[in-house]
Amino acid sequence: ADTAMYRAKRAGGGHAFFNAEHDRRTLAEMALLSGMHRALERNEFRLHFQPIIHPISGEVTAHEALIRWESPGGLVSPAEFIPLAEVSGLIIPIGQWVLREAVRAAARTLRGHIAVNISPLEFAQPQFVENVTRVLCEEGLEPGRLMLELTENSLIDAHRGRDVLRDLRALGVRVALDDFGTGYSSFSALAGLPVEVLKIDRSFTLHLGTAGPEGVRAAELVRAIVALARAFGLDTVAEGVETPIQAQLLTDLGCTFLQGYLFGRPSPLPAAAGEEAVMPAMFRTTDL
Ligand code: C2E
Ligand code: MG
Ligand code: MG
Ligand code: MG
Repeated sequence: ADTAMYRAKRAGGGHAFFNAEHDRRTLAEMALLSGMHRALERNEFRLHFQPIIHPISGEVTAHEALIRWESPGGLVSPAEFIPLAEVSGLIIPIGQWVLREAVRAAARTLRGHIAVNISPLEFAQPQFVENVTRVLCEEGLEPGRLMLELTENSLIDAHRGRDVLRDLRALGVRVALDDFGTGYSSFSALAGLPVEVLKIDRSFTLHLGTAGPEGVRAAELVRAIVALARAFGLDTVAEGVETPIQAQLLTDLGCTFLQGYLFGRPSPLPAAAGEEAVMPAMFRTTDL
């Protein structure tokens, strides 16, 4: 009955060897968790903004807000901490901070739409729409300028999901389905939801224009997504556009908006927006 305890004793201390890997993971997660708590208290999170452009006019029509964590140990990628923030519930205060910061940036500095990523747990909060409404009011942003990026995981609970989408539409907030085409839901079920935009996942953009069957397949998939979007009256945004060839093909395929390193990397708001422009000549280093 006490085999585990016996083995644990033999292994020395309280740590049985067969648990070492699990323990290491748990310890790393605990460190990450306490790090995130501290990050909230000490203001270590930042938002970067990436432009979304209209390929025909070349105009920047929107920015996507992407969280960055400047931890004392260096930059931590959202891919590393967002999943743990979700399972621990910390995504709720983090998401609140993101929403307010992004909406504020749009109200004060940025032009066009502001796209904000929303985790399934945030979307599932009963007071979600109320929260969004309050932040928009307090920061003075017209609801029509906010676009929420949801993944299909948020919409698995179809009934409640649909109700919330209707409330958001009534409020005037726009909704995009992020990473479209990567999940398990059927295309048509997702496209039939009351949303305004489909974001074509980077994995599709990646192979566009490459030689061989992968390039052909990617083009066919993008063509299908664009056709579906049109049938439902939705716009499309292609993610991860890195080359002029990808941009050209996506535009030819009828994709409405493009986003990617080709047009701009995620970057902070210019800290001294405006200052640079009005900086007197005598302070310019070239004049010293
Ligand atoms: P996402 O919403 O699909 O965001 C797109 C990701 O692709 C971003 O990674 C962006 O920096 C990256 N990207 C954009 N253009 C290019 C390109 O041309 N090439 C390549 N290789 N990458 C490109 P990032 O910022 O690391 O974010 C990763 C994911 O983390 C996001 O995927 C999103 O799911 C999540 N995330 C980021 N910020 C937030 C946030 O504030 N709240 C929530 N809930 N999730 C967030
Ligand atoms: Mg996104
Ligand atoms: Mg995406
Ligand atoms: Mg993605």
